[in-house]
Amino acid sequence: MKDILAKLGIEDVNQGASTGSWLDCKGTLLESVSPIDGQVLARIQQCEMGEYAQVMDTAAKAFQEWRMWPAPKRGEIVRQLGEELRAHKEELAALVTMEMGKILQEGRGEVQEMIDICDFATGMSRQLYGLTTHSERARHRMFEQWHPLGIIGVITAFNFPVAVWSWNTTLALICGDVVVWKPSSKTPLTAVACQKIAEKVLKRNGVPDGVCSLIIGKGSSVGDALVRDARVPLISATGSTPMGKRLAAIVGERLGRTILELGGNNAIIVTPNADLSLAIPNIAFGAIGTAGQRCTSTRRIIVHESIHDTLVEKLAAAYKTVSIGDPLQDGVLMGPLVDQGAVKDLQNAIVKVKAEGGTMVCGGEVLSGPGYESGCYVTPSIALVKNEYEIVQEETFAPLLYIIKYSGSVEDAIALQNGVPQGLSSSIFTNHFIESETFLSAMGSDCGIANVNLGTSGAEIGLAFGGEKDTGGGRESGSDVWKCYMRRQSNTLNWSGKVALAQGISFDM
Ligand code: NAD
Repeated sequence: MKDILAKLGIEDVNQGASTGSWLDCKGTLLESVSPIDGQVLARIQQCEMGEYAQVMDTAAKAFQEWRMWPAPKRGEIVRQLGEELRAHKEELAALVTMEMGKILQEGRGEVQEMIDICDFATGMSRQLYGLTTHSERARHRMFEQWHPLGIIGVITAFNFPVAVWSWNTTLALICGDVVVWKPSSKTPLTAVACQKIAEKVLKRNGVPDGVCSLIIGKGSSVGDALVRDARVPLISATGSTPMGKRLAAIVGERLGRTILELGGNNAIIVTPNADLSLAIPNIAFGAIGTAGQRCTSTRRIIVHESIHDTLVEKLAAAYKTVSIGDPLQDGVLMGPLVDQGAVKDLQNAIVKVKAEGGTMVCGGEVLSGPGYESGCYVTPSIALVKNEYEIVQEETFAPLLYIIKYSGSVEDAIALQNGVPQGLSSSIFTNHFIESETFLSAMGSDCGIANVNLGTSGAEIGLAFGGEKDTGGGRESGSDVWKCYMRRQSNTLNWSGKVALAQGISFDM
């Protein structure tokens, strides 16, 4: 462990703010506790309002210069960031696992996603296209330009502690924006590590201080200040729906922009035409992967009554084979939950399931004994429920999978799938093309992500990522999402040498 921390430049006590140069922070000490064994990994001297002001002043100044760097040159910086991440992939993945608890393979996958988005953004830096069109006036030229927006406030959740920063930051950087990152207080060390990796690249290329900044501190102080700060035209926030609703109201009040990536309640529909040998492993990975702590984790299975019992039996058998333990060890498929609070949330949800009339099929036990001393290890659980239960309408951020029976047609299943407040990810398993086309049509899934014959989790960076309804409507990365990080300007240029008003108006004086 010490070796991994040292390779990433993590010390026993680390500062909680950087503009590219680390500040002396005055806040209280924050401990980063590993859910693997409950041990303190290292500490952070948190950022307070004084350091916050310094960070914002430096960021505002840096923007004046950075916005004038040619976009492909900014892309070159992001390309080098990708190279640096390749060089640090193993240790950064291990730190993600140690601090957050996801298995090492998934830690590696998360860092790979950072590398992929660097490649994506580098190419994109040469493709920030604006449209041209024809004017109704003779000898006029009309076109659109995309300009940098300013300081982007990036607020991230604990469960993808490094990838979400990179999704936002790489696009923001190529667009000519500067970034101030406030990570989750549950995963501060991975943020320090990312900042240090980025600083190597920024410094050797003469990028001004303030282009990439980090503030680690309380949501109620520096987090709140960032959200209220009128110098920040865009807040991109990833986290729970209640957090997003609070934040949207504050940013809306000052007419700022938001990208909100909030909670999901993702369902897989399994029709009588499904290939169960595809469906079962996809469901198991979706529900158990990252110990059910992905925004895209599979929470609900909507299965036709004709195959309900078979599916439950096969899933329960698959669940029995899952090895639970130290996520750094090979062969372990499920590590701990992030902390004991998350374990309590799971236990409370199971109590509510039973109180509303649901039946537990398996799981939900808290493991104890050697290897499980942190109190964060649980067995993955399956419950038979109805979609309208209050608890089923909520996102429980844990490995608790609901099975809901449907009768009738695929339209009935889609109505259940859409019958929750959230709208992030959804899937259907079927080999019947009318069912899959119905699911993907305007009368189908209402989610931001809709898949056929693969699960709800594990999106690629090529497509826009995000969801509808209580998931917040934001799109954070991929596709043409760069446009969200820029301001659009419509330009008309008159080279006729004459006065020509639009819509044929004459205004002779
Ligand atoms: P959370 O809402 O508790 O915290 C998220 C972030 O918001 C943290 O950095 C936190 O400090 C910050 N925050 C909270 N209140 C704030 C305030 N008033 N001002 C400024 N910042 C504030 O979420 P979490 O427990 O870290 O993460 C789990 C949640 O995130 C789940 O609901 C999950 O579905 C969601 N999530 C969504 C996506 C997505 O892309 N849709 C991705 C990952 C996680």
